[in-house]
Amino acid sequence: MAARAPSISLHVKVVAYEPCARHAPAPCDCPDKVVSKLPDGSPAVYEHDTDLGTTVLLGLLSANLLDTGQNVLDTTGTSRSVSANSAVSSPTIVAGTGSTAAAVSDTNLQSQSSGSSGSQAIASVVVSGATITISATITNGSAGTIAYDEVGIVVTVGGHTFLLAHDAPLTGGPFNVSVGGTLAVTYTGTVS
Ligand SMILES: [Zn+2]
Repeated sequence: MAARAPSISLHVKVVAYEPCARHAPAPCDCPDKVVSKLPDGSPAVYEHDTDLGTTVLLGLLSANLLDTGQNVLDTTGTSRSVSANSAVSSPTIVAGTGSTAAAVSDTNLQSQSSGSSGSQAIASVVVSGATITISATITNGSAGTIAYDEVGIVVTVGGHTFLLAHDAPLTGGPFNVSVGGTLAVTYTGTVS
């Protein structure tokens, strides 16, 4: 008997964009220019079909979807009692420079970039047919180029932050994003 496909799968796409040469840091409607990866000049686009959900994700699924509280590790690695149907807030895409391979046991990024250069509230969550699409765009607001090499999703429960998904390293990365450039991150979950 053939192996059955996973019933829930997570896909991630990351695209790095240059700041607008004419208008940055002011926003504008100019066409976005994808960063050219070094050394071969290929576009800085990363797609991964079997993105890693974390064991933390399972704990929060249990608490908030299946009405069963769990002890769950937060981003500091501390076990927190998450009661059934806890309010979740601040769904956020996070990004950083860590390049060690991600694992399902991860509870935080390896090296999250500081402030808004490493964190952006999720802009939209859209359910359509068998897919859910989660996206946000992070802008490098720091003083220098950031070599992004990892992304993830976090949420807040009871004042603590929890990592639901983690992808590292970005194959062909890191993606060098100049000041004012952006990192567009899209997660697509599919049920089948
Ligand atoms: Zn422009």
